[in-house]
Amino acid sequence: MNLPLFTTPNELSHYLQSHRSQSIGFVPTMGALHLGHQSLIDRARRENTLAIVSIFVNPLQFGANEDLDRYPRQLEIDRVICETAGIDALFVPTPVSMGINNTLTQVIPPPMMMSGLCGATRAGHFQGVATIVTKLLNIVQPDRAYFGEKDAQQLAIIRRIVADLNFPVDIIGCPTLRADSGLAHSSRNQYLSPTGRSQAAIIYHSLQQAQKLADLREVNTEKLLAAVTTALSTVPAFQLEYLAIVDPQTLQPIDKLNEPALLAIAGRIENTRLIDNIIIS
Ligand code: AMP
Repeated sequence: MNLPLFTTPNELSHYLQSHRSQSIGFVPTMGALHLGHQSLIDRARRENTLAIVSIFVNPLQFGANEDLDRYPRQLEIDRVICETAGIDALFVPTPVSMGINNTLTQVIPPPMMMSGLCGATRAGHFQGVATIVTKLLNIVQPDRAYFGEKDAQQLAIIRRIVADLNFPVDIIGCPTLRADSGLAHSSRNQYLSPTGRSQAAIIYHSLQQAQKLADLREVNTEKLLAAVTTALSTVPAFQLEYLAIVDPQTLQPIDKLNEPALLAIAGRIENTRLIDNIIIS
């Protein structure tokens, strides 16, 4: 295998030193790569002359009762996927080489952006994401960094950090890739049984009910949310955690659909936590 793989920030920086004249596209991931990740990787390849992928299962973004230990890890498969996709270098740091310890400097996004949606039940999650993404952006110093719209709260928070702290990088949001059933590709889909997977198709299907109502000129977000809830009730195996319509940039709830809005959902099937969202307009 020819794909260079680096495990420390210094090694990667050294490699990048001789490539700084190129345009660098960067795709941060937690591995267990799927078609969603691949769409980001393909775009990074297309839009830059050098493409870097990182794989780091970030311990700071997992809560005490979450799935850090059993999160899927498949480095050899991921390496082949990256090599086949034409990636130039893979960065696979360890918690030690990322300096993870109790005294690590933390990056704290605006609390109002972390208090709702996933942040309401995942205390510390977005602080952990922000801290590690900041480190990764500083190490790689890419021209463009690619993030999925599937993690809409994460994307909004990263855009805000990059703007507020003047990071010299373009943040590129990429559309959610889905299976034919509509289920968004996710590394956590591996936890689902075949039955669970087909039940999980209700998530996207139910979100679309709100858009259908919006197409009929309904602007009252309570009514739009009610349409989603009704559709969800057809699959009792889905346990709803939250359902909300918010401003896509500020993430604050809105009660009238005057502008395109983010309809976001999280819930569990077979105890696997799944998230999804669409923009309704
Ligand atoms: P993760 O490995 O889950 O941290 O995801 C790495 C990046 O891939 C994040 O920016 C995600 O938003 C993005 N991503 C995950 N799933 C999808 C998907 N189905 N479609 C597009 N991007 C995705």
